[in-house]
Amino acid sequence: MKKRSRITIKGIVQGVGFRPFLYRSAHQFQLTGFVKNTSKGVILEVEGEKQALEDFNAYIIKNPPPLSLIEHHETREIPLEGSERFHIVPSEDTGQNDLLVSPDIAICANCRDEMFDPQDRRHNYPFINCTDCGPRFSIINSLPYDRPKTTMEKFPMCPQCGKEYGDPYDRRYHAQPVSCYRCGPVLTGHGKEGEETANPLDKAIEHIQANRIVAVKGLAGYHLACRALSQEAVVRLRELKGRETKPFALMATLEMIKQYAHVSPKEEALLQSPASPILLLKCKNNDGIAPSLAPGLANMGFMTPYTPLHFLILEKIGEPLVMTSANITDEPIIYKDEIQSLSGLSDYILSHDREINIFADDSVAQVVNDKLYMVRRSRGFVPLPLKIPVQTPHTFLALGPMMKTTFTFLYKGKALVGQYIGDTDSPATLEAEKKAVDHFRNLFSLEPTHVVMDAHPGYPNRELASQYPNAQVIEIQHHQAHVGALMAEHGMLKPMIGISMDGTGYGTDGNIWGGEVFVGDYKKLERFGHLKYLFLPSGDKSAKEPWRFALSVLHELYGPEGKTLEFAREMGIKGEQVLETIKKRVAGIPTSSCGRVFDGVGVLMGLGKLNSFEGELPMKLQALAESAPKGSKTYPYGLENEKKLQILNLMPMIRGIIEDRGDRAEIARAFHTTLAKGLVKMATKARNEYNIETVGLTGGVFQNTLLLEMTVDLLKQEDFSVLIHSQVPPNDGGISLGQAFLAAGQLLNKEN
Ligand SMILES: [Zn+2]
Ligand SMILES: [Zn+2]
Repeated sequence: MKKRSRITIKGIVQGVGFRPFLYRSAHQFQLTGFVKNTSKGVILEVEGEKQALEDFNAYIIKNPPPLSLIEHHETREIPLEGSERFHIVPSEDTGQNDLLVSPDIAICANCRDEMFDPQDRRHNYPFINCTDCGPRFSIINSLPYDRPKTTMEKFPMCPQCGKEYGDPYDRRYHAQPVSCYRCGPVLTGHGKEGEETANPLDKAIEHIQANRIVAVKGLAGYHLACRALSQEAVVRLRELKGRETKPFALMATLEMIKQYAHVSPKEEALLQSPASPILLLKCKNNDGIAPSLAPGLANMGFMTPYTPLHFLILEKIGEPLVMTSANITDEPIIYKDEIQSLSGLSDYILSHDREINIFADDSVAQVVNDKLYMVRRSRGFVPLPLKIPVQTPHTFLALGPMMKTTFTFLYKGKALVGQYIGDTDSPATLEAEKKAVDHFRNLFSLEPTHVVMDAHPGYPNRELASQYPNAQVIEIQHHQAHVGALMAEHGMLKPMIGISMDGTGYGTDGNIWGGEVFVGDYKKLERFGHLKYLFLPSGDKSAKEPWRFALSVLHELYGPEGKTLEFAREMGIKGEQVLETIKKRVAGIPTSSCGRVFDGVGVLMGLGKLNSFEGELPMKLQALAESAPKGSKTYPYGLENEKKLQILNLMPMIRGIIEDRGDRAEIARAFHTTLAKGLVKMATKARNEYNIETVGLTGGVFQNTLLLEMTVDLLKQEDFSVLIHSQVPPNDGGISLGQAFLAAGQLLNKEN
């Protein structure tokens, strides 16, 4: 008996080959009807024998195209229409969007093979792509996803491309950015004075080979590229970018990467995944790599080429390239063709006329325990949704903290975490956040009913809240938000112990928090304990100049004379002034920050006195510790009860470190071990009191994978079940997700 049903499928179902898949499947099951894209999702009507309809339905759910994501699927029987064939009908815009968007996708193997095939009509074509690869998020203006709503609008297809685009059996069927030499974008090149030159690709290669810096337009922003093996080039790049010592990421083929770094099978898979992130890999051998690339660190960041243009460049250069986001100091990545700004940063600009609609930096990740461990979630992952186990009728917009900010929209059981924005203490970055938020609002038709922000009264992104006068404002404490992010990512609704080891954030008691332990769930999270408060002189200055905090630690241990005075004098007149403020406890504030403890220990161990980039000393401390053999050495620490809070006192440990004349690497390792043990002790106390078995580890300090692995191991030995991050970073890039989730929880708590 014949039947007809109407099927609605929502999720990532556009721009990923979903309709041709349905078309081919309908034919395979001998069904008639149609399929169309709407702003509510893909809608299809199929007519045929009852059994065939059922088989078809089961088949499409089970075998969707690899890049698609079915979030919702609904079938309903409708009257027969006697249709005679199956066809694809034009898209329909129904206003209210309920669609998701695919992230930008690295070039696929098929396209790469075609590009390098001298017989192919797209041989060496820098914009080759197909249904399985190419730009998506960065070129879409609005939904539903169709060429006229992307920046490909201005490139009418030639007959041949049109044929591929229109053929459901072609692998370029409805690939919106499809193009070729005859009809697509073209490369352009600009010299130092902004003058346009012929043969842009060859010119760019020449410049790179001559150790100069070339700005290269990528998928979602510009890179600055140069030879990674040339000290001269890297020094020049540092000059132009105004970046002293912060490491640069490299782009290289997998084969090249393996010469320099250890690559596990999981890492190999991630390097070549559609998201193609920068992976932090353990150095194996840095022979030939410019010494000033990543001085003194044990990891190097590598990614593989992910656009056709990257492949063309690497193929000609034949060695690893530095590929770093093109941006002016403290400003977001450049993604428009701002020739003037770019020529200040580079010697040559390799660009093209396919516009980038919205920016996204490269994502950065690591592999921990054979799983993805995110450091910066951006290109390739954004705007993939995260499933949230709570349904709320509200739409939350969380604006993130100030540093490494992201934003999150939470609605209808999902969270869309926006791309990496950066530090919003700069007006240009704040503007970028506003732009990206507005882009999401338009794209996904979202209007926030609740705006969530950090409890810090001085964070600039608070300003963005004024755009939503009708939305209710909710504040979430910084380190609670870290725990909230972990809960959201794991769909954790039950109470847990949340250990949030971080830099600094505003605490609800007016102090600066940053080494916190909480107990509770997403509806109610309470402070259980923290690292002992220590006086943080000079406020925010201490993050960049950690000798200030080291001086405060010395004062705490030894008083104002002796070692302390000696150290202050070593720092010159400034040192003596800071010591005065410490003595009087003025111009500073108590802090429980764990990041500052790492800084302080780094200084006291002689690794440096300044952080020329965030986390420099902590990273050096980690690298030093990793160079030591495994050992059981620890230092003493205290656990004290103060006003109903558990206080982890690390001062005995720091005294031990200062007075230890032993091997420095072993000391650094023992520091990590002691901290891990102290945290486990806190967790055990919390378990005894609340009978909770699950512990979550979050906060920027847990980017330190040595500390992370040590703490996880110790917790498991004590039979805890342990949660760590994967999809969102432990650092402040994860905060907006936690803000949104905890705000939703608070509201549910109130409404019940
Ligand atoms: Zn492809
Ligand atoms: Zn064409």
